[in-house]
Order: sequence, then C-alpha cells, then structure tokens
Amino acid sequence: MTDRYCVFGNPVAHSRSPAIHAQFAAQCGQDLTYEALLAPLDGFADAVARFVAAGGKGANVTVPFKEEAFRLCQRRSARAERAGAVNTLCFNADGIFGDNTDGAGLVRDIEVNLAQPLAGRRILLLGAGGAARGVIAPLLACQPTALFIANRTADKAEALARAFADIVAVDAGNYAKTAGRSFDVIINATSASLAGEALPLPPGLFAPGSLAYDMMYGKGETPFMGLARAQGAACVADGLGMLVEQAAEAFALWRGVRPDSLPVLAALRRQLAG
Ligand code: NDP
Repeated sequence: MTDRYCVFGNPVAHSRSPAIHAQFAAQCGQDLTYEALLAPLDGFADAVARFVAAGGKGANVTVPFKEEAFRLCQRRSARAERAGAVNTLCFNADGIFGDNTDGAGLVRDIEVNLAQPLAGRRILLLGAGGAARGVIAPLLACQPTALFIANRTADKAEALARAFADIVAVDAGNYAKTAGRSFDVIINATSASLAGEALPLPPGLFAPGSLAYDMMYGKGETPFMGLARAQGAACVADGLGMLVEQAAEAFALWRGVRPDSLPVLAALRRQLAG
C-alpha cells in the first residue's frame, strides 16, 4: 500500500513541500504520496489524529504549529528538544516521534551547497523567533569562534543566548549593539523580508569574504540580500536551499534513504524564476 505523508500548516496552499517530496520519491523509487493539509488554527492535534487514523506515516509541520507539534510528541530527538519546536513527525506503533530538521538543513546548505565552512568563523544571527531558535545548536555544533544573536526586541535575543549558554557563551542584544563589530557569516532569521523591509543594521558588519544568508526566499532578491551586497558581502544566498535540505533530512528519516537534493533545488529555482 502507498505510504501517506503530508505537511500541516495554516496557511499551507503556498507550500513547496509536496513538489519537493514528490521529486525525492521519484528519484529514490519510493512508493508514497505527500499532500499539503490545512489545519484549523485551533484544531492541529485533531488534524494530526485524523491523519494518523487514516494511515498517515509521517508529516512535516510549518507555521504556526511547530511548538504545538513539539508538545504533541511522546518522544523527540535531542535537536528537537533543543529547538523547542518540531517540524517533522513520525507516526509509529509506539506513538509520535518528533524531530527538527531546520538547523541541519541550514548547515548543509551553507557548508555543502555553498561550500562555506562555519568552523572558526564569526556568526551573526538576526532574529530571535522560532526559526532562529531552531538553528542555534546546529550552528554551534559547527564550532564557529563567535555567535551574536541580534533582534529588534533585545530581551528575546538575550533570553535565547541564556538558553544556549551551557554550550558556549553567546552575545546578544539589539541591532545597534552590533556596531563596531564585523562577522564572517550573517544569517537573517527574521521575517522582516516578508514585509519587504530592510533591517536597521549598522555599517561595517560584513567582513571581507563574508556570507550573507536570508532564510526567506522568493522570486527575486530580498531587501536583506540587497543590503548585504551593498555592504560588501562576498556571497549572498536565500533560504531555498535550506528548505530543500530540511526536506531531504526529513525524507531520510522517514524512508531510510537520502535523496540527491541538488537537482530538486535547481528545478525549484527555475520554477521560482519563471
Ligand atoms: P517568528 O514570528 O517566530 O519570528 C519573527 C522574527 O522576525 C522575530 O525575531 C521578530 O523580531 C523579527 N521581525 C519581524 N518583523 C520584523 C521587522 N519588520 N523588523 C525587524 N525584525 C522583525 O518567525 P520564524 O522565526 O518562524 O520565521 C522567520 C523567518 O524564517 C520567516 O521569514 C520564515 O519564512 C523563515 N524560515 C525559512 C525556512 C526555510 O526553510 N528557508 C525555515 C523556517 C523559517 P521581534 O522579536 O522584535 O518581534
């Protein structure tokens, strides 16, 4: 029987995940279906229960349900525990297992696809929401020399830094507090680009040879990517690769086989541009 997977979100119609997983399945000869399911804002747990009862094997979870998905799980991976959020669910005989593949997806896109090692580099993470929290431990595992978390609301960045202080000392504050420093890798994990807004970053943040990475993606360049180019970033990327890589990680967890993400990323890039 064909195995069923889905992504839960609200909204979810825009999701690229069904197309990504269909390509992975074809590539790996896996017999599965993957659909986008709209869960009511107050009905996520019921939607999951219905999908499981109908034979669902696993699911991805997107905005705004990642924290609720975390609470729904009987067991979680260590990286999901650290993230406090779950984007991948596995439905087993012994209950629901939750993982978070966002951080691994980001790291793989940066280190493998963009060939930018993170070890020994100074990282500035912009934003202190769910996406930022999910990637901190995987970034720290790459052994950068420094991590600074900057956010519009400084308190939230400081709380995140405290939450990871047992791994390494992390600096935090508002954007103005980064003045006078420079970084080798600057990652935008805010949703400012969604609103078409640039961040009020002080000049001089981008060190020579630096990478600017926006987790957002779309048809053209985001305001952050434009700002990074203007301020001298050597490599500028959007978050499409992260999207495909977090999906590949989830697919590998479900099916025990790792798809080749690059042709899928290239196809998606062509689609977005067209
Ligand atoms: P949250 O709502 O949890 O957090 C939003 C963050 O953005 C907060 O830090 C908030 O600051 C900041 N922010 C929002 N608007 C502005 C603004 N106008 N100026 C400055 N800061 C602003 O969102 P998520 O963390 O879940 O998602 C963040 C982004 O990451 C989204 O764009 C999402 O699409 C992207 N993402 C991409 C993924 C991928 O696979 N490529 C995966 C996951 C997320 P404050 O605390 O001050 O409100």
